[in-house]
Amino acid sequence: GAELILNVEYMFGIVGIPVTEIAIAAQAVGIKYVGMRNEQAACYAASAVGYLTGRPGVCLVVSGPGFLHALGGMANATVNCWPLIVIGGSSDRNQETMGAFQEFPQVEAGRLYNKLSVRPSSLEAIPAVIEKAVRTSIYGRPGSCYIDIPGDFVNLQVNKSSVKYVECCLPPPISTAESSAVSKATSIIALSKQPLLIIGKGAAYSHAENNIRKLVDLCGLPFLPTPMAKGVVPDNHPNCVAAARSTALQLADVIILLGARLNWILHFGLPPRFQQDVKVIQIDICSEELGNNVRPAATLLGDINAVTGQLLEEFSKRSVKYPSNSEWWKRLREKMLNNEERSKGLALQKSLPMNYYTAFHHIRELIPKDCILVSEGANTMDIGRTMLPNYYPRQRLDAGTFGTMGVGLGFAIAAAMIAKDQTPEKRVICIEGDSAFGFSGMEVETICRYNLPILIIIINNNGIYTGLGADAWKEMLKFGDPATCVPPVSLLPNSHYEEIMSAFGGKGYFVETPEELQNALKASLTDKQTPSLINVMIDPQSDRKKQEFPWLTRSNL
Ligand code: ADP
Ligand code: MG
Repeated sequence: GAELILNVEYMFGIVGIPVTEIAIAAQAVGIKYVGMRNEQAACYAASAVGYLTGRPGVCLVVSGPGFLHALGGMANATVNCWPLIVIGGSSDRNQETMGAFQEFPQVEAGRLYNKLSVRPSSLEAIPAVIEKAVRTSIYGRPGSCYIDIPGDFVNLQVNKSSVKYVECCLPPPISTAESSAVSKATSIIALSKQPLLIIGKGAAYSHAENNIRKLVDLCGLPFLPTPMAKGVVPDNHPNCVAAARSTALQLADVIILLGARLNWILHFGLPPRFQQDVKVIQIDICSEELGNNVRPAATLLGDINAVTGQLLEEFSKRSVKYPSNSEWWKRLREKMLNNEERSKGLALQKSLPMNYYTAFHHIRELIPKDCILVSEGANTMDIGRTMLPNYYPRQRLDAGTFGTMGVGLGFAIAAAMIAKDQTPEKRVICIEGDSAFGFSGMEVETICRYNLPILIIIINNNGIYTGLGADAWKEMLKFGDPATCVPPVSLLPNSHYEEIMSAFGGKGYFVETPEELQNALKASLTDKQTPSLINVMIDPQSDRKKQEFPWLTRSNL
């Protein structure tokens, strides 16, 4: 009955033997079921529900190949620290080891990707196992949990009186940091000359936006969001130093790390991207994370929102305010102006085909401030991140810690399902590279089937990183079989991806000039009912502006 829902509202999946009845039963108790076209996209969608709502979404898959396709989604969720429940059908218990239909050691395979990977021993055990899975997915560091349901379970009868009712778990307990660690951290911050607050997606997940904003304002701290933490404090806040990212990281003497790992996204916290002796104050819910790559000056183990509250209290006793005319702020501001000028120059270039910066400039001018931005691709994601501001928390979803391509449409579908229920006026805008779009392109049918007014924008450069123009492509083919002579980064030039959208009843636009782009954007944004896809042709050779450091620098090791 409905009491077993455990506040789980959304299920994404693909039905087949033996799980079809599970989807029907879920709908019967009021869970919204979204049938997708590939289990990977379904699993990405379910994981985005976890990040956006703090309650796990469910992904339902069939045995063997269906389960295997979903592993990418389980890994992506666990690497991102997002809660997720995957329910997999598996072969009948009495057929195992016989080479049953789609037989695979799913519980064993699930262990590497999940916090919990289990099969209930009987029908009666299912409620307790589900409660444990939901609890495990959201307690401590969030992650994915897998529940294996043998096919013969699905049609077994059970005596209702023998099933024990299991109540929904309590909300995750909220832990605070030791008070000695809090005062140590405030002393370090008070003595710092060049402090920097780094906000990670753990802060977004813990809904710490109000407290973090207060901390920024109270102490006058410069802050830098990681990609998915954009919007926890609005990107247009005067203390946001994203446009001087490299300088801020490189020169900070004290870093307050709020829910972000010192992994590749933050260059491991090591020189040359950071000072050798930078003092890191690490705040995280996961104690094993504390001390990774850098020996921290102070460790605050606890929930970000709660710990930020502790810091605020401490700072209300001893006031610390960085004067906005300090040398540190001067230096950061100079750098920000300089970087913004460089982007502006590129954005205002009039030549055709457009470059990335021009395309994003026009998109930025027209999209609403309060929309959910989903983004993936290489240059499309990286340049888009710097060009498109976020003003609200948890409104940016991208390839994440795992750098996964193919997440976009699943994330957009999940975000649009939630928006439909909670904030119907909020648009979901999914900005994809042409290569990234290809991984899950058939989910456009899912979008049209559920009539989700998602706007997909494809920044199309005919390839991965860079592509070939139509003429260069023809020249290449003179050398023979495309498999032997076409650059592996190339995709078919001038592909009309917008026709995938019109094929299913949505609106498709093929645009080559800023004017066409503006018109297509205005039309798609005015029509709040219809899914649409704008295929933006850009210069296949367009690139990022020059970077100060090569990617993944780790030269001192
Ligand atoms: P980013 O990609 O933004 O750099 P990461 O995914 O690397 O962020 O880091 C997020 C961190 O946030 C993880 O180490 C995770 O343990 C932590 N975290 C998640 N939820 C909470 C919470 N409620 N309170 C504190 N830390 C959290
Ligand atoms: Mg591309």
